[in-house]
Amino acid sequence: DTIGDNFDRTVAACGDRDALVDLPSGRRWTYRELQADVDALALGLLANGVSKGDRVGIWAPNCPEWTLTQYATAKIGAILVNINPSYRAHELEYVLNQSGVSTLVAAESFKTSDYAAMIDEVRPRCDTLSNVVLLGSPKWTELFESEGDSGKLVAASRQLSADDPINLQYTSGTTGFPKGATLSHHNILNNGFSVGQLCNYTEEDRICIPVPFYHCFGMVMGNLAATSHGACMVIPAPGFDPASTLRAVQAERCTSLYGVPTMFIAELAENDFDDYDLSTLRTGIMAGSPCPVEVMKQVIDRMGMAEVSICYGMTETSPVSNQTRADDSVERRVSTVGRVGPHLEVKVVDPVTGLTMPRGEPGELCTRGYSVMLGYWNQPDKTAESIDSARWMHTGDLAVMDDDGYVSITGRIKDMVIRGGENIYPREIEEFLYTHPDVLDAQVIGVPDAKYGEELMAWLRMREGAEPLTVETLREFCQGKLAHYKVPRYVRVVDDFPMTVTGKVRKVEMRQQAVDLLG
Ligand code: ATP
Ligand code: MG
Repeated sequence: DTIGDNFDRTVAACGDRDALVDLPSGRRWTYRELQADVDALALGLLANGVSKGDRVGIWAPNCPEWTLTQYATAKIGAILVNINPSYRAHELEYVLNQSGVSTLVAAESFKTSDYAAMIDEVRPRCDTLSNVVLLGSPKWTELFESEGDSGKLVAASRQLSADDPINLQYTSGTTGFPKGATLSHHNILNNGFSVGQLCNYTEEDRICIPVPFYHCFGMVMGNLAATSHGACMVIPAPGFDPASTLRAVQAERCTSLYGVPTMFIAELAENDFDDYDLSTLRTGIMAGSPCPVEVMKQVIDRMGMAEVSICYGMTETSPVSNQTRADDSVERRVSTVGRVGPHLEVKVVDPVTGLTMPRGEPGELCTRGYSVMLGYWNQPDKTAESIDSARWMHTGDLAVMDDDGYVSITGRIKDMVIRGGENIYPREIEEFLYTHPDVLDAQVIGVPDAKYGEELMAWLRMREGAEPLTVETLREFCQGKLAHYKVPRYVRVVDDFPMTVTGKVRKVEMRQQAVDLLG
């Protein structure tokens, strides 16, 4: 199936069911109403000269127009280029030029970002960009009013193949500059469907999506998982806000809730958390970065998400390769990212020799199968560094696979700390620091050290009203519980960590700041 065909099939099966609800504006669509708007927009884009293979950029926080653009471009085979809502002008310019966007659909502004002004600023330097449509402008409205007949859509859809590129997603930029993963209908539609299947979605489900649409978590695991199973997408707010998320779950009687661990941490820390009625929640997905055991327990016990899944993956693999199943034990859902998804393969290899590691021993995780991207857009050398000749995607993540095929992520190769010859996985120390009652969130990085090569630095966010930990009090806490070389040498208490907009901690930036601090 192409994404458009799959969407139409869902409409045929459950046209009267809720498809999309936008809490901030109160607007809602059934599947049939959504199809009418998607088709009108697709015709409008065709009438404006957009055709198969053209790149259409979307630069907006979560809003219904994002979803309409997603499905309208899919129907005519235009390649949707997801643009990170937190980009500044120079990043926007890079992405527009790198991908060759010809039509840009954008919000006028978001929070303190004046998108319209930034677009004006970069436009003279973006040769391929010929058409800018601001959401809510007359030009946007006109796109829905073109006189095209539906025969044109049928004709456009006949030219599409499921293996065509349909989406260009830039990675989060956690470890460096974002790279543009080129994804086909086949890649992302199958992945969304599979994720939804393992969550047991039906048209009864209502999924609260506070994670960004610009990222695969929102548009594939959220939108495509929903539409391929007839479930409803609920947008709680344009950007993440813990209180609006909890309000949306309650108001829309959501059965599923998504988030990266830091979002769940923020929701659980809301003062009036216990006043929300979250009793409709059955499942959800936590992904994107490691989930502390304590957080998982609270998500199950206090949020009632008994079937919550952990997903692991990366933009380059559409994204999900591993997912815990609803019947996996809680223990497995806290300590692993589950088994490999249907029709995919994973293996753990020695990063140097490439040989498969024995079960239980750490190495680099590799993924193969339908979900592996076509390649990085216009970067064949980068593609060749990541996808080998046997089509294995090398993830850059360290993992261990147990005898039953359950995979645990132990960190990123780039984050591993080597202190005096010992390999240290920061994750293990972070897990331990979370058990301190005053610690809200903990991150551990390696900083250069003349004697040991690297030393550990803990960055801590303290709970409200708690006394900040010092090197001494932290050392006391670790005494006898952590091997001496794993006890952080430095401690830094902060209000917030440097984050990507996908909610991941940017350890690269923390390392830079630490180096500056230590002089
Ligand atoms: P960049 O590639 O630009 O540095 P990024 O890798 O963070 O950024 P994404 O594709 O958004 O960009 O994220 C994929 C990465 O997120 C994985 O490689 C892995 O390191 C991490 N990740 C995803 N899910 C999990 C999970 N459940 N547990 C631990 N880590 C995860
Ligand atoms: Mg990556």
